[in-house]
Amino acid sequence: MTRSLKGVPVLVVGAGIMGTGIAQVAAQAGHKVMLFDAMAGTAKEAKKRLAGTLNSLAEKGKMSSQAATDIAAQISAIGSLSEASAAGLVVEAAVENLQVKRSIFSELESIVGEDCLLATNTSSISVTAIARPLKSPGRLVGMHFFNPVPLMKLVEVVSGLHTEPAAAAVIFELSQAWGKVPVHARSTPGFIVNRIARPFYAETLALIQEQAGEAHVLDACLRAAGFRMGPCALMDLIGHDTNLAVTKSVFEANFGDKRFMPSLLQQELVDGGWFGRKTGRGFYRYPEAAPVPEAAAVLRPEMTDLVLHGQGPGVEALARRLIALGLGPVARQPETAWQGIEWSQGLLMLTDGRTANEAAHALGQPHLAVCDLPIRDMMQPDTAAATTENVLAFSVPEQASQDWAGLAAGMLAELGYTPVRLADCPGLVVGRTTAMLINEAADAVLQGVCSEEGADAAMKLGVNYPAGPFAWLAQWSVAGVVQMLEALDGHYRGERYRVSPWLRRRQWLS
Ligand code: NAD
Repeated sequence: MTRSLKGVPVLVVGAGIMGTGIAQVAAQAGHKVMLFDAMAGTAKEAKKRLAGTLNSLAEKGKMSSQAATDIAAQISAIGSLSEASAAGLVVEAAVENLQVKRSIFSELESIVGEDCLLATNTSSISVTAIARPLKSPGRLVGMHFFNPVPLMKLVEVVSGLHTEPAAAAVIFELSQAWGKVPVHARSTPGFIVNRIARPFYAETLALIQEQAGEAHVLDACLRAAGFRMGPCALMDLIGHDTNLAVTKSVFEANFGDKRFMPSLLQQELVDGGWFGRKTGRGFYRYPEAAPVPEAAAVLRPEMTDLVLHGQGPGVEALARRLIALGLGPVARQPETAWQGIEWSQGLLMLTDGRTANEAAHALGQPHLAVCDLPIRDMMQPDTAAATTENVLAFSVPEQASQDWAGLAAGMLAELGYTPVRLADCPGLVVGRTTAMLINEAADAVLQGVCSEEGADAAMKLGVNYPAGPFAWLAQWSVAGVVQMLEALDGHYRGERYRVSPWLRRRQWLS
């Protein structure tokens, strides 16, 4: 079982989007590839399409035309699994159905040799369950590629209950040889990426549902935090039908754990046929461009009697901006329990998970505003001031005057942000989303699903996050994340915001 898979013939089962991409990557890595699909003619069609893709890569100068011809010649469409007895590796990418996958592997066990490794590209089915009926379940490994396969670097190498560690190790090495970045994962619902990513969608859906802000505003806040797309635009792209199905499957597979509860809002979009781009309507209308969020009205603040309160990377980010304005260094009160700027007209507090209302009451200061977590500034101090999309959300207590809201927006504008006002919600949008992604990643590590490095690599390479959850945590601090989650938990109650025991353990170390 520990032998290398270098140069072995590869059988790809299922010649759809994923199977075709996997066949291309395997052939480019020098394997002979047999491509099989249950639907007659599909594998041949896929081979033809692949030859076209390779030719266009050659035309763009990405490879020589000889290489394109040679790689295409490595791939053959076969009409029956019985023709694949020489395979040293099977990668199954047929439909997402347990019975279909089980019967493919059971049939193959009587065709391929004993040391042929079996891999499944399932995105949500338990690898343990797929392996169960096999005679040698130890050789079945999850090999979860991301779409589009030739471009996306991540492969989750998923081990089920039966999977022999040596088999997972061989698939890990093979993935590297194919130019991918593999990450080990245990077979649990959603594996790494699809599990840790749930709050990216869920927090924004919850904020829209409670009318804290509109889709295009929340999207802009998260883009400014470094995400390539906001959650609403991304859900529109993935398709709400698909995204809801994944959310439901993770929720059900976790026995209805409320932390993973799907959103009624998304269910409604699906019920109404607003699946996103593919139906021309989701959160946005297509092909129209999404609206640009309107900046809040600003009043010019007096920049006098400035004091920076509290300590941490968020406060340092504000300090850098003040210095860039020629206003620093300003007075400091590092022992204050809250973080932010006080000036002659009021307080601008970095979110700690409390609403502006709650914080204003606690501090006895009605002229208080809460702003979102400037995570990008915290992560990349050097480039902070130069970002083009500098949207940052803020809120003021419900009873605050328009003048105070204008002054708070004005302070953010002075600092170089484009202020957008949200209703007075706890944790605003970037703060709570980041905290929840960290919390989910912490739980995944706690449960042995992946390592911290694995989680960071998976989120950066599988869904293009600007940084991994543990890299955020290292900047933000365990205490800060726990404070945010506890405030959210106190506000909403229920299970969604419970603090991961992994964070609790570290809370007392930091
Ligand atoms: P697809 O619908 O494009 O292709 C599936 C192909 O499997 C079809 O051509 C179908 O004819 C074929 N098929 C069905 N039953 C078969 C059988 N018994 N034997 C052989 N072929 C059979 O689907 P896809 O998007 O390529 O997904 C394939 C697998 O990859 C699924 O398990 C899916 O969950 C997983 N996956 C998909 C994505 C994605 O973004 N599309 C990402 C990661 C993993």
